[in-house]
Amino acid sequence: MTRLWNDPADFADEMIDGFVAANSRAVRRVPGGVVRSTVIPEGQVAVVVGGGSGHYPAFGGLVGQGFAHGAAMGNLFASPSAQQVYSVAKAVDRGAGVFLSYGNYAGDVLNFDAAQDRLRTEGIPTRTVTVTDDVASASPDEKHKRRGIAGDLTVFRSAAAAAEAGYDLDGVVRVADLANERTRSFGVAFTGCTLPGAPAPLFTVPAGRMAVGLGIHGEPGIDETDIPTADGLADLLVDRLLAEVPDGVSVEGARVVPILNGLGALKYEEMFVVYRRIAERLEAAGLVLVDPHVGEYCTSFDMAGTSLTLFWLDDELERLWDTPVDAPAYRRGSVVAAAQAEIAEVASAAVDEITPGDDESRTLAHTVRAALQVLADTVDAHVDELGRIDAIAGDGDHGIGMQRGSHAALDAGTRAADAGAGAQTTLARAADAWADKAGGTSGALWGVILNSLAARLGDAGRPDAAAVASGVADGVRGVQSYGKAEIGDKTMVDALVPFTTTLTEAIDGGAALVDAWTGAADAATRSAAATADLLPKMGRARTHGEHAVGTPDPGAISFALIVTALGELLAGTSTSSATHAEGMDAS
Ligand code: ADP
Ligand code: MG
Repeated sequence: MTRLWNDPADFADEMIDGFVAANSRAVRRVPGGVVRSTVIPEGQVAVVVGGGSGHYPAFGGLVGQGFAHGAAMGNLFASPSAQQVYSVAKAVDRGAGVFLSYGNYAGDVLNFDAAQDRLRTEGIPTRTVTVTDDVASASPDEKHKRRGIAGDLTVFRSAAAAAEAGYDLDGVVRVADLANERTRSFGVAFTGCTLPGAPAPLFTVPAGRMAVGLGIHGEPGIDETDIPTADGLADLLVDRLLAEVPDGVSVEGARVVPILNGLGALKYEEMFVVYRRIAERLEAAGLVLVDPHVGEYCTSFDMAGTSLTLFWLDDELERLWDTPVDAPAYRRGSVVAAAQAEIAEVASAAVDEITPGDDESRTLAHTVRAALQVLADTVDAHVDELGRIDAIAGDGDHGIGMQRGSHAALDAGTRAADAGAGAQTTLARAADAWADKAGGTSGALWGVILNSLAARLGDAGRPDAAAVASGVADGVRGVQSYGKAEIGDKTMVDALVPFTTTLTEAIDGGAALVDAWTGAADAATRSAAATADLLPKMGRARTHGEHAVGTPDPGAISFALIVTALGELLAGTSTSSATHAEGMDAS
């Protein structure tokens, strides 16, 4: 249970402010997260880590000399946006390229990849290694699909030590890949975590029972057993990890760093009791234990649980591991303190001018604004339900993520329309604001959908129904090319594809936009409901396949609700505060 907050919506932001106020010796705030407050040497590869907030000391607590140069910090359990990652990377780039690393989650991949594309477009060499240490989350032959948990510590730290030692970008990538390949984790939980202001934990475990193979975003475990004794738990963790020793490692005499990580609400004392037996078991198996860690390195808010990580060293990894570090939440050895960086006045980003639209397009911009209002109203009306469906197999944030995104879009769209923008600019501003503020997978994907549609609306004249249908089709293609989901994977794609197909067919057949749209929304609604029968193959829900059967995909449901409400706006039957669709060719 969390007890203290002001407005829950401000929690992550206020947490970062306080964290920086308490650690200004090591970190300072930049748009999108934090960076070292000390001088970063020119010519050093910039290591940027990140992810959602709620995992302290990951990710901000791992920024400092010998560790990361910057951390992109998203909202609670929500990936940072591409803009946030980009902005942090720009603040720490010192001419030797940017290395991005984060736990392997769909939302993070989308946003970090988009940031990477943007950095590369600007000529900044950028490479990525995602952390995939959690053996519970996929089988060994699908290792690349595994999620990242406490293994963030070893991969980030190895990469950062390599950067500090002067490795070039290729060298940092090689070390990080090696560290990731040699890091394996497995965890359990006794209670789920409760986000600030939330009425209930993201999942619960019956009294006396334990979830096995947990995630760090409140994803429930893949199995459940009675809570064993401390020694029984140690055996479970050790057996599971010794069953999957990395290729090329022989157990006898292997040097390993064991990390017993607390998830947020487990006592250190309990972990020491467990660790006692872990150490005995690992030594009995012939391992040489190097620099054991027992403590909190990657938490899941206030989840009560623990995970064991084994980091299988080789000579190079051990040499790098032994170098000094001084980050707010992680200090080893003695670092020669770098000077505090002078904070260059951050040039206030030039308020970019809005090119005015012509009369027709400005009228249509007000319809776009009305549509954004309907969108935000629809999300508001269903926010709890969307959160609830997402909590069954995902992380419970779909409602609040969509709410943050749709309201940011409405604000940005309103500002643009009021400043005289045409329809394209209005919707494009809204799309960017959505992707930036929502975080998570769906935020990035809604940004893609709305930007694609915007490009077909233009800032002059009035697009016809075919242009609208093409814009939607572009958006759906964009979602598929970014997110890589196919029909039947149990994602929003299962609602998007029938929607766009029905819309395009009806318009090609000469139907009016309002009728085509309404028919398409019906198809999306049916398909979204039918996702209840599917097994998830993408995103966070993938790990919890069987839990998700019987519950529809939250992203598909929210899409269907939104296009249905927009159909009512077009038909003039909307009950939303935005009541008419001026300038849209509804006939
Ligand atoms: P997150 O998964 O980051 O917590 P949300 O909870 O806001 O983000 O959104 C979850 C929804 O995103 C899912 O219900 C699904 O519809 C959609 N989604 C997840 N991964 C993909 C993907 N690869 N392609 C398309 N849609 C996806
Ligand atoms: Mg979610």
